[in-house]
Amino acid sequence: MSTELTTTFDYASLPAKTATSLQKRAAAILSHEYKGLGLLIAQGKELKAAQDELSDHHDGMFCKWVDSTCPFAKSSAYKLMAVYRRLGGSCPPGGQPIPILPKAAYLLSEESTPEGAVKEAVSLAKKGVQVTHPIVKKLIENLTVPESDEDEDECEDDPEEAEEEASEPQKDQLGNPLPDHAVEVFAAEGLLDEAICAIDTLRRAVNAAADSAAGKFIKRRIIVSELREMKKDIKAAQPYCICPKCSGERCTFCWETGVVPQRVYKQTMED
Ligand SMILES: [Zn+2]
Repeated sequence: MSTELTTTFDYASLPAKTATSLQKRAAAILSHEYKGLGLLIAQGKELKAAQDELSDHHDGMFCKWVDSTCPFAKSSAYKLMAVYRRLGGSCPPGGQPIPILPKAAYLLSEESTPEGAVKEAVSLAKKGVQVTHPIVKKLIENLTVPESDEDEDECEDDPEEAEEEASEPQKDQLGNPLPDHAVEVFAAEGLLDEAICAIDTLRRAVNAAADSAAGKFIKRRIIVSELREMKKDIKAAQPYCICPKCSGERCTFCWETGVVPQRVYKQTMED
């Protein structure tokens, strides 16, 4: 069947040298010399070379050649070339085969896959680990920022909120009047906001570094998730109401401030 397909491409319209070369490439693509990843890379390499050889000819010539000579669709041809581009260096055709399964190889070759994931997958495979699609997904996840991070910035000043706070500093969040020392506690809350802003700034710096060519090995996901925990800790400490144990008179429970955060207030009420 493959021989029959080969004849439908009009090699006569090409210079003799190009025609002969392309026929050899078609034969190499159909050969069973390689298996697994080695086969994908060998096919991708031939396809890329054929595309280069046909680059001087009018549009669509390469696609026509793929349609009439290759046992797969054009979309697969582009995927195979991507596999060759991404993995051909680590696993040259004819070299020592490495155990990366085809579905995993295609995912590794996608444009959006970070180079770090490719390096880690190759390194695992070279240690003898069979690299599967789920393993590659995990590697990519570890190197990609969760989408929710994009809008978690809280550094922008909200003038309305600031005004509201300034006009009503004498009561806690439950509406209880504050003793003077407790007013001071609420007034110092801005320092917590500053710390949160500093973490946001740090997170942006880490992301920028990880996006740069020098930062591919930064463990972005881990760092970003720890920064998020730090922010949570600080937010959970924000002054909420007067201490329910001492009614704001200051005791050991409220660290002698007369004020507790919401989480502590709720716990106390549940006990
Ligand atoms: Zn207290």
